[in-house]
Amino acid sequence: MAMVDENGKVYEKEIVNFANDNSSKYIIKKISEYIKAREDRVNFVGIGVPGIIKNNRIVYTCNLSLEDPNFVKKIHTTLPIKLANDALCATIAEYKIIDKCKYTNYALVTLGTGIGSGLIFNGKVYEGKNGYAGELGHIVIKKGGIQCNCGRKGCFEKYASVSRLLEITKTKSLGELFTSMDSSPELAKVFDEYLDDLAEGLANFIMINDVDMLVIGGSIAWFGDRFYYVLRGKIASRLFNRETNDVKLKFAKLGNDAGLIGASFLDSM
Ligand SMILES: [Zn+2]
Repeated sequence: MAMVDENGKVYEKEIVNFANDNSSKYIIKKISEYIKAREDRVNFVGIGVPGIIKNNRIVYTCNLSLEDPNFVKKIHTTLPIKLANDALCATIAEYKIIDKCKYTNYALVTLGTGIGSGLIFNGKVYEGKNGYAGELGHIVIKKGGIQCNCGRKGCFEKYASVSRLLEITKTKSLGELFTSMDSSPELAKVFDEYLDDLAEGLANFIMINDVDMLVIGGSIAWFGDRFYYVLRGKIASRLFNRETNDVKLKFAKLGNDAGLIGASFLDSM
């Protein structure tokens, strides 16, 4: 949670650990307390949620139990509140603050525990009729593959999330992975196979949306220069034109604050 000004500058950030209690009751309580203490200094509350949002209601969360239709009503404040998917919030932040809205069609894919994404078409957020648009994490890349929390088997996030990457490389963090990889050809091979899975899903995404710029976010973005050209080549080889330069791909720059910043701009998108 944080206060964010109109230029995207973050103030008074507070991180709440939900390891012991991730119930919506506790989460609502923490959010209410944070807002209450700052109510006289802010005019809008934006909340990024790792799930599907429709008409300002949480309709589905895959990895957290937040499906409370009255989530917004239960937050004790008189301020206006707007909910959006957390990856969409990160997309808005990168689009506005880093890219200054210069692209017409734009997407961000964030790799973390799962895979989220956000779409901007003609300069406007596109969430689709049910809020599913661009829900890339749950497209199937391997029929009958690994069971996903969503009910399907073989979802993209089961192969290309950071959680999966750490699992298959048996490392505890991305820092450890990229350090160890320099002296381990075996690890480098596993990572290369991971990039194939990542490229599979991202190529599908590009085939459907063909945006002007695709941004990859999440903590892996900090290590992006280690694999940028390999990944771009793998994506290009799966597309019709096979021109590497036609794949407009880059890494996010705002880091973990992207979701916070983007949520603060929800009233203007
Ligand atoms: Zn799934």
